[in-house]
Amino acid sequence: MPTDIDGHGHGHHDAFDARGDLDAYRREVRAFIAEHGVPMSAEGVRVPRDAEHERQIRAWLAALYAAGHLGAGWPVRWGGRAGHLPGHDLVLMEELIRGNAYRPLDQVMLAAHSLLAFGSEVQRRELLPKIRSGEHIWCQLFSEPEAGSDLAALRTRARPAPDGHGWLVSGQKVWSTDAQWADMGTLLARTDPDIARHAGITAFVIPMTLPGLDIRPIREMTGHAEFCEVFLDDVRVGPEHVLGAVGGGWQVVTSGLASERAFVGAHAVQLERMYADLVAIARAARFGDATVALAHEDVQAKLAEALVRVEEVRLIVRDAVERILVDAEHPSDGPVGKLAYTELNVALTELAMEIMDSAVSIDDSAADVAARWQHNFLWGRALTISGGASEIMRGLIGRQLLGLPRA
Ligand SMILES: Cc1cc2nc3c(=O)[nH]c(=O)nc-3n(C[C@H](O)[C@H](O)[C@H](O)COP(=O)(O)OP(=O)(O)OC[C@H]3O[C@@H](n4cnc5c(N)ncnc54)[C@H](O)[C@@H]3O)c2cc1C
Repeated sequence: MPTDIDGHGHGHHDAFDARGDLDAYRREVRAFIAEHGVPMSAEGVRVPRDAEHERQIRAWLAALYAAGHLGAGWPVRWGGRAGHLPGHDLVLMEELIRGNAYRPLDQVMLAAHSLLAFGSEVQRRELLPKIRSGEHIWCQLFSEPEAGSDLAALRTRARPAPDGHGWLVSGQKVWSTDAQWADMGTLLARTDPDIARHAGITAFVIPMTLPGLDIRPIREMTGHAEFCEVFLDDVRVGPEHVLGAVGGGWQVVTSGLASERAFVGAHAVQLERMYADLVAIARAARFGDATVALAHEDVQAKLAEALVRVEEVRLIVRDAVERILVDAEHPSDGPVGKLAYTELNVALTELAMEIMDSAVSIDDSAADVAARWQHNFLWGRALTISGGASEIMRGLIGRQLLGLPRA
């Protein structure tokens, strides 16, 4: 039962109605995923293995849109569903994780959000249907070697083209997730170097096939290449590529972040799955005397401590979800949830490594679990950086929740 949510003009009733509807929706979406879902090969691994895998992924994303699971919150005119509730998005994400199904790409969801908020009529008409059909995968060309947390320091320049039509864009982007198979990119470039840092930036929506783009995948320590360096050498863009206003790029980026809320509830499910894997590895890791790690008191104590932390994050997430359901979020809900989840995620991978390190053997039956931990150990830290690093989250929480002055 939802607890009282004071002071936001919404009472018990709204949340309770939403809850009743959500149970039915959960059953529906779970069955859909079981029947059609394409499996995730490993956490954070989104780039297709080959052409056939890519076809399956695009068809799966299209199926999620066609069934009204994705894009349901869009205006009805663009394919949204009347009667859609924010809770549906939360349930969808939870069930995708529970069912280990390929998850919608954040970059595509953010592109859709930006197009709906800032796109011209022509851009929406051309680009939104191609998101729904799986034809367009999107990437984000924001970060640069000298501009990440401090994105407004970006230096990629869009200079007016000498022939007077549009701009020529030159510079370098980095950590561009999915750029090697994306069809479209949201690009941030500086159109005016002479005014205040945020004000001179413009957002563009560009086909990734434009001449002058050089896309080089970066291999990570997981062995996978999920993101790229993107070099831009006099890439010609026109007024039709501008998203929002010239000089209005900052509003485009900052508005997109709000659409990440759908992932909050999914974090708790992810941690529950990881905790189950932790117990599984402790049951399968054997010490020199052939006892399993789980039989040892010090391991039990560490697992108990981990369980307490998982429970803490579940409560933090549940609190945020209650507010999302009645449309009464706090600005700090996102940063608190992200910080708590990503840091605990790293701590769990470290504990799993500690257990595996001290074992002399791991039962064959847990080979998959052990491989997952090895991958997650190498991958997990990335989550404490992407979408705003932990230090940045702490700064936001300090200012937004605690009212501390900016350092
Ligand atoms: C998995 C992954 C996927 C990504 N995908 C994309 C993508 O698709 N498109 C894209 O454009 N970018 C992407 N990024 C880049 C991401 O946005 C940046 O890595 C992030 O913003 C941090 O910037 P940075 O790497 O330049 O680190 P920096 O900003 O240089 O930070 C370095 C360190 O300094 C700390 N720091 C920085 N500023 C402060 C401060 N004010 N106070 C306290 N500490 C501070 C940081 O927390 C960090 O520990 C991705 C990153 C990852 C890890």
